[in-house]
Amino acid sequence: MTSRAPLRSLSSDELADFRTAKQAEYADLQARGLKLDLTRGKPSPAQLDLSDALLRLPTTTRDRSGADVRNYGGLEGLAELREIFAELLDVEVAQVVCGGNSSLTLMHQVITSMVLHGGPGSQRPWKDEPVVKFVCPVPGYDRHFALLADLGIEMVTVPMRADGPDPDAVAALVAEDPAVKGMWLVPTYANPTGSVCSPEVARRLVSMPTAAPDFRIMWDNAYALHHLTDEEARSADVLTLAAGAGNPDRPVLFASTSKITYAGAGVSVLAASAANKAWYLQHLGKASIGPDKVNQLRHAEFFGDAEGVRALMRRHREIIAPKFAAVDTALEQGLGGLDVAEWSHPAGGYFVNLDVLDGTATRVVELAAQAGIALTPAGSAFPHGHDPRDRNIRLAPTFPQLPEVETAMAGVATCVALAAAEKLAADAG
Ligand code: PLP
Repeated sequence: MTSRAPLRSLSSDELADFRTAKQAEYADLQARGLKLDLTRGKPSPAQLDLSDALLRLPTTTRDRSGADVRNYGGLEGLAELREIFAELLDVEVAQVVCGGNSSLTLMHQVITSMVLHGGPGSQRPWKDEPVVKFVCPVPGYDRHFALLADLGIEMVTVPMRADGPDPDAVAALVAEDPAVKGMWLVPTYANPTGSVCSPEVARRLVSMPTAAPDFRIMWDNAYALHHLTDEEARSADVLTLAAGAGNPDRPVLFASTSKITYAGAGVSVLAASAANKAWYLQHLGKASIGPDKVNQLRHAEFFGDAEGVRALMRRHREIIAPKFAAVDTALEQGLGGLDVAEWSHPAGGYFVNLDVLDGTATRVVELAAQAGIALTPAGSAFPHGHDPRDRNIRLAPTFPQLPEVETAMAGVATCVALAAAEKLAADAG
């Protein structure tokens, strides 16, 4: 495949021939009447089936302490479940809160509470600041950006690299401007790049001087345990690093079982310093008398211990790793050597990051849609959906079945090559 010549090196006649060939391939693709969807990072039904024992649990109405889980109370969540996640996330049990099914809700609560009330280290609530800004590594998770946009928080971007966000770029933004109050970070197998934040980058981020005394790192470890290879990335121990740097309240850690058990009926986790945890629970206590402890107990019974979670994740890997391999194979077969696209080879997580020729991502998504292949809208991995280079596409291969991933990705490769040929021909005038 790599014996193909880069598209830019072709003469105009050769490029015209290439384009005609791709147009014919694309017409065949359209004629197949496909209806395939690579838009959202959802577990497939086969993955959800792995946890169906949950539907027959819990076996008792009492937790380990003897409390009746059917009743009110227990705001910080069940101790037995908090213990499992403390081990998995390398934090102290005392730092952990277990909540409802969505960690995104916990992130929303933390930020809205900072806006309304301020938190440890704040001089005033963020709503009383003239401007509030967040640092957003890009490409990133669209819902993080939508959450900020909804609250009127401005977003400033920094590049996401293989070992995490560019720490020099972050440090420069936060050093002088007290309006910069926080940043997003998906530290392990990031959405969508698959980046893993190195301990060195984590150390820089927790120790850098910030003009805002209440700067927060929203450490969203949604994919901490979601390995695709034997080389299992270990997340940096951010709470310990931050405490050691004298900034214990800077990071707030989040995780959930959305892609471990059920995406719609799992449990979520928050871990933070003692001050942050007390602050969070104080505000949570005004909104809830306690979490769904029946669900928490059935999760604790289902997992048994941290090793139970790891074993379950290995079974997820068996189902989804072949789909990621199929994405890579199709892109290599369709685009290898053309030098019009680069894509990630993630060792974990839920996404493949595809960068196409600058200025063609929107066209690729449009071509794919017209051939019955739904892709996440171009630009979605950027604040306000604006990718300045119009080149980034997030691929989510976990939900469709393997043959569908193969078919869809071969089609995507055709669309990428066709859009590139159109662009190069147009540029050549
Ligand atoms: N964080 C990241 C980085 C995600 O990719 C997702 C889902 O795609 C979530 C959070 C959502 O988490 P939850 O289902 O726990 O709300």
